Amino acid sequence: MSSFDVIVIGGGAAGCMAALSAAASGVSVLLMERNSKIGRKLYITGKGRCNVTNRCSVQECLSNIPHNARFLTSAMTRFPPEEAVAFFEGLGVPLKTERGSRVFPQSDRAADVIDALLRALRKSRVELVQDRASALEIQDGAVTGVTGEKGRHYACRAVILATGGVSYPGTGSTGDGYALARSAGHTIQPPKGSLVPWEAAGCAELQGLSLKNVELTVRDSRKKVLFREQGELLFTHFGLSGPLVLSASAHTRDFEKERYTAVIDLKPALDEETLDRRLVRELTEGANRDLRHVVETMEPRSLVPVLLERAGLTGGEKANAVTRAQRRSLLEGIKGLTFPITGPRPVEEAIVTAGGVTVREVSPGDMASKKTRGLYLAGELLDVDAYTGGFNLQIAWATGRAAGLGAGAFCREERCAYEV
Ligand SMILES: Cc1cc2nc3c(=O)[nH]c(=O)nc-3n(C[C@H](O)[C@H](O)[C@H](O)COP(=O)(O)OP(=O)(O)OC[C@H]3O[C@@H](n4cnc5c(N)ncnc54)[C@H](O)[C@@H]3O)c2cc1C
Repeated sequence: MSSFDVIVIGGGAAGCMAALSAAASGVSVLLMERNSKIGRKLYITGKGRCNVTNRCSVQECLSNIPHNARFLTSAMTRFPPEEAVAFFEGLGVPLKTERGSRVFPQSDRAADVIDALLRALRKSRVELVQDRASALEIQDGAVTGVTGEKGRHYACRAVILATGGVSYPGTGSTGDGYALARSAGHTIQPPKGSLVPWEAAGCAELQGLSLKNVELTVRDSRKKVLFREQGELLFTHFGLSGPLVLSASAHTRDFEKERYTAVIDLKPALDEETLDRRLVRELTEGANRDLRHVVETMEPRSLVPVLLERAGLTGGEKANAVTRAQRRSLLEGIKGLTFPITGPRPVEEAIVTAGGVTVREVSPGDMASKKTRGLYLAGELLDVDAYTGGFNLQIAWATGRAAGLGAGAFCREERCAYEV
């Protein structure tokens, strides 16, 4: 049976950072990853470019975490975005900052981040094993080891659980950590998707249509505006997706109680008056043409039948016969194309998992379990999640760092106690 000071379960962002931080405090570390390679999810982050963090203050970072931000204050303060930037540049990954303070490798390659982590793990003498943790070994309220899926035992003084959530399970995050944490006395908040596409009625006929520079507004049942931003949006066979929708979805979490509506302004740069003048001009210039052809000069062809139908028009009307009221209906559709959101897509399709290990049961300074001695938790496994922009990886780095240092210090104290 092999024996280590610290065993980290999960070689994702949080686990790699935890392993490096524990090793830096002078203890022996085993990193257990079920896949043949570490960082499978990291590889697909930021469309393969990896939005490593967000170059902003701790306060701004916390304001982009809608749920349990307070719990993260300590870890984020000790390892803020600027430290994450310095850390990766120190590993030989030059970074650049883009729109919205999003930080990426200069090479635009997520693989460079993974390669750098792997080099650092090897240099720090972290042992890597491909095995899937199937049980925590616990005696008298303290972890003593981990059992692998083929029955192999690994003895240790401390375990860091960094197995991620349940989103994109093909990358290895299938929710194993919930059962492992539960076996150590932890409560799991039901996992839900955040940053997830929406199912919405009336979108199927528009599937494949991608809209750039539109404004998306999301309202709740009392018509309160929950989100409003401009950007890119995609129609799919099930509803709506694309960057705008993923960002907005973090604000629509209560489908059991709420009814949400998506309103798309197709011409956000034009106010109603200007757009009406443009419509009048187009209708005058194409006076003898069918209305559908006139509208096609202003909007993507697949959208035109939808806009016409919603305005109560067939498209066969001659442009010079369109009444003021009909023009008004058309304008209202262009400025406010509305779709009722029927629900989120399954959590497996979400960019991040909201829910997870209840943070009340974890010490915010060092991510130590309050239920089992020697157990530490980090990353998306915890009941924390953020908006898009590099904040979710920043959570993984900061909590991984805190857990690694915490577990390292715990092992050193244990050793001293033993030696005395
Ligand atoms: C498509 C996509 C794009 C994203 N882009 C960004 C982005 O650009 N910026 C950003 O900030 N966030 C992004 N995110 C979110 C971010 O990737 C995650 O929040 C982050 O990776 C979570 O890190 P983690 O280490 O907690 O979990 P994970 O990265 O999921 O790692 C968990 C690891 O644990 C391993 N594991 C699980 N169970 C076991 C077990 N029993 N035994 C051994 N190993 C196990 C898994 O194989 C996996 O390698 C994106 C997510 C997705 C899906």
